Amino acid sequence: MLDRPGLSEELEFFRDLGFQELFVSTPSAPDLVAGSMPDLASLERFLAGCPRCKLSGSRTRIVFGAGNPRADLMFVGEAPGREEDEQGLPFVGAAGGLLTKIIEAMGTTRDDVYIVNTVRCRPPDNRNPEKDEVAACRPFLEEQIRLIVPKVIVTLGAFAAQAVLGTDAAISQLRGRWQLAHGARVMPTYHPAFLLRSPKHKKDVWEDMQKVRDHLAGGSPKS
Ligand code: URA
Repeated sequence: MLDRPGLSEELEFFRDLGFQELFVSTPSAPDLVAGSMPDLASLERFLAGCPRCKLSGSRTRIVFGAGNPRADLMFVGEAPGREEDEQGLPFVGAAGGLLTKIIEAMGTTRDDVYIVNTVRCRPPDNRNPEKDEVAACRPFLEEQIRLIVPKVIVTLGAFAAQAVLGTDAAISQLRGRWQLAHGARVMPTYHPAFLLRSPKHKKDVWEDMQKVRDHLAGGSPKS
């Protein structure tokens, strides 16, 4: 692991020798067999200590996801930030505060929905998740969707929309338009962190969330 005892002395040794870059290979771990996990708790245990991408070297905690394991409505965000990394919970920082308000304005609560991210570990300095990191985490996102069986998935921001829908399309093209993926209806919308920077787009998100709320209100109960 990248934080093993004695690592800093070893790195100093190489630096003194004149090395400026070191390439560290990621330790291997078993691939997830799609459909093999009986429940979310088993999937979380399978992920414990995950070394499958380079974010594992800098994270404090894996942010697995939180909420109702039988939720009709699932939110997929981008990546944990500093507070999420410290607490191991998704959307607990400033963007999380706004997401909570949006969820409550829809007439529901965080405990009734399920919240997860495209990647489960914090990218250093809150940079965007990279393609290989999203790809390494995608099987876990897909297994969570399979186990939860949401009726609607709301993707927050470009990375989540692209990961869930498997597209490179821009969020401005995807936002507000129903899609179908993973057996659910998918509503791409803007990320709450973007709304904090650009509050004029809050009304767009609210339009999208009204569509979601109305769809869920008209739907049949989950078997
Ligand atoms: N917090 C999260 O958990 N995900 C985001 O995408 C942003 C903040």
